[in-house]
Amino acid sequence: MEMISRIRSSVIRMHSLSRASWRLLVARRPPVVRGYSSGPAPRVCIVGGGPAGFYTAQQLLKARQDAVVDIYERLPVPFGLVRFGVAPDHPEVKNVINTFTQTAQHERCSFHGNVTVGKDVSVEELRQAYHAVVLSYGADGNRSMEIPGEDLSGVISAKDFVGWYNGLPANKELCPDLSSETAVILGQGNVALDVARILLSPHEMLKKTDITQHALDALAGSSVRRVLIIGRRGPLQIACTIKELREMVNLPNTRADMLPSDFEGVAETLKDLPRPRKRLTELLMKAMNGGGDGPVENSWGFRFCRSPVEVLSGPDGKRAAGIRLAFNKLEGSGEVARAVPTGQFEDVECGLIISSIGYKTIPIDPDVPFDPRRAIVPNDMGRVQDTTGLYCSGWVKRGPTGVIATTMNDSFDTARILLQDIEAGKLDVSINKPGAQAITALLQTRGVKTVLFSEWEKIDAEEESRGKSVGKPREKLLNVEEMLKLAWS
Ligand code: FAD
Repeated sequence: MEMISRIRSSVIRMHSLSRASWRLLVARRPPVVRGYSSGPAPRVCIVGGGPAGFYTAQQLLKARQDAVVDIYERLPVPFGLVRFGVAPDHPEVKNVINTFTQTAQHERCSFHGNVTVGKDVSVEELRQAYHAVVLSYGADGNRSMEIPGEDLSGVISAKDFVGWYNGLPANKELCPDLSSETAVILGQGNVALDVARILLSPHEMLKKTDITQHALDALAGSSVRRVLIIGRRGPLQIACTIKELREMVNLPNTRADMLPSDFEGVAETLKDLPRPRKRLTELLMKAMNGGGDGPVENSWGFRFCRSPVEVLSGPDGKRAAGIRLAFNKLEGSGEVARAVPTGQFEDVECGLIISSIGYKTIPIDPDVPFDPRRAIVPNDMGRVQDTTGLYCSGWVKRGPTGVIATTMNDSFDTARILLQDIEAGKLDVSINKPGAQAITALLQTRGVKTVLFSEWEKIDAEEESRGKSVGKPREKLLNVEEMLKLAWS
């Protein structure tokens, strides 16, 4: 409620403060671009500087030689989950940053960091200043497990844990308790495997990555030796991909610890599986049968057909000491098999519980349609329901699933739809719109100063230089104030 009234009052302030200057800005002539000189340049604003935002911008700039695109990002730094989600030991995945940088440096594109849409500026205000607004603000919320005890100390979300080791300012104080021997991860997707791998990777491997120094130090003193990764369904429904599974299998000084009973009947189905699922299952079975002879310090293992029902507290009633799991049986087969409780339970002792059951989009502005059940902005191929000129791409559009390539395709689709709407006259671009000029002026009246891409590059250079001195690709700044000071220095 407080958030909503703050948004409303800022909208009102804007209308009373800047109507005259707004008119002036609207009257200014837009840039005349060869090939489209008959009308004003379409001005598009993108909310969110993650992969969806950058890929949407890239496609718009490429397909329309006169389109002008401005990206507004909440943080002073760009790239969304490529910076704050992708695991530090996957540097090759982060190469997309080079493409995003080219887009940001395009003469018809500008990046404005340090702007929280929905708080500093409303979506309606953006819609007044631009011909079209594309929401690409990702899925920032957590799905909760909704079981008793999930608020106990020692229970954290994978989202926060990932944010902590990747330097997300909001998670810098997380301090996960790594003092117990067993950690349990709930969920069996790639994020769960990223978390398990980071917990068990040797210090020597992690210290060469861009993992934050505080996480590196905490992990060096970690007592976690055993990681169990729990899933509601069976080995044939597991949600991770083969690359992440192979990395677990190949972790040094670590053995897989699976239960053969979890794999009953799996070997017989192998021959009928589609190829990617077959390869994944074969690797899983190899891990189950393996063991290796070398010295082993750590272990990890999947536990299948189990759902969390309660986090168990220790004697003080405050800290997690274990988790109660309900056994499931599967009804149906293949990808659509359903987990049904059997009424049997098992308790697992553990001091760290990380829930990796998914991210969730949250509404940022009361004027934007939102589907709370699916936790997305309701849309038809990227056109936001019932709102002309408003579009969406990425995780906001389709929910928090899929890799960067999926987000890329989906963002290209939204850009194409937007351009088609211009061509078809469904989106009116005949009236001049002031774009960033009006919005930055408006933000100034509210005491909000933006971080331009060239200013982010100062942060980037500083991070690389700090990293270089300790043999890492970069040492991320964790503090927004420090980022801003450096950007504006
Ligand atoms: P995001 O990347 O979340 O970007 C959204 C942006 O919007 C953020 O920068 C955010 O700060 C900004 N924002 C939010 N609210 C506002 C607001 N109110 N105003 C302005 N800006 C706002 N994919 C791979 O291909 N390989 C991997 O190895 C991989 N690893 C992953 C690891 C993790 C832990 C996670 C969660 C995902 C991973 N992915 C990976 C998936 C990939 O990150 C996503 O497909 C992609 O980031 C989704 O892009 P997006 O732009 O929709 O969202």
